[in-house]
Amino acid sequence: MKYNRILLKLSGEALMGDLNYGIDPKRLAEYADEIKQIHDKGVEIAIVIGGGNIFRGVAGVSSGMDRVQGDYMGMLATVINGMALQGALEDKGMKTRLQTALKMESIAEPYIKRRAVRHLEKGRIVIFGAGTGNPYFTTDTAAVLRGIEVNADVILKGTRVDGVYDCDPEKNASAVKFDYISFEDVLSKGLNVMDTTAFTLSQENELPIVVFDMNKEGNLVKICEGQNIGTVVTI
Ligand code: UDP
Repeated sequence: MKYNRILLKLSGEALMGDLNYGIDPKRLAEYADEIKQIHDKGVEIAIVIGGGNIFRGVAGVSSGMDRVQGDYMGMLATVINGMALQGALEDKGMKTRLQTALKMESIAEPYIKRRAVRHLEKGRIVIFGAGTGNPYFTTDTAAVLRGIEVNADVILKGTRVDGVYDCDPEKNASAVKFDYISFEDVLSKGLNVMDTTAFTLSQENELPIVVFDMNKEGNLVKICEGQNIGTVVTI
């Protein structure tokens, strides 16, 4: 396998599947199947999951809510998704641990780097919930941060688009996809891969990002095997 230890970032919205809100059990089971394929091949898997299918802090602000309060609600939403994903993975026989950046010890371990690494070494899938534990951040930043902390080889950003394009492929039929692109070129061309905080953290720590279509069966395993079916962002 090309990658031995990965940090998989899944957006909360992806879990909605065909629904308008919340968690689609069918999508959850599909993701668990995809993850099982790489787990069976011995890849060590850490996962950060978003919360946008349930709540986003900025959405609260637009209806008059305090931003910090809203962001904590968003972080709790990621824990709900993390628990759902944990259940789906365990249903398929994988061993998992959920670690949260905000303490909630009756349902999850607190985030402890050394413990997380030990779980990974033992073949357990570690899901990191509650983002970074701080308001004003995103789960993309949490993904890069945890990826660096546990020494992941790569951040795999699973989206509904199959890579990074020179313009929005959903609006422009002639958009061109990059197979590889440097961090610098992403910035100079004003492309959107992750929010700036997440992106520069990845760049500074030379942690590559692969953007790929998580909704296509078999893609996750192809990437871990080294097939370039998405876009690789590197130094
Ligand atoms: N959030 C936060 N700090 C973090 C991570 C997340 O405050 O470190 C909050 C923020 O309000 C965010 C919400 O949790 O809008 C859900 O996360 P995100 O928007 O990254 O989820 P995604 O877009 O991946 O579904």
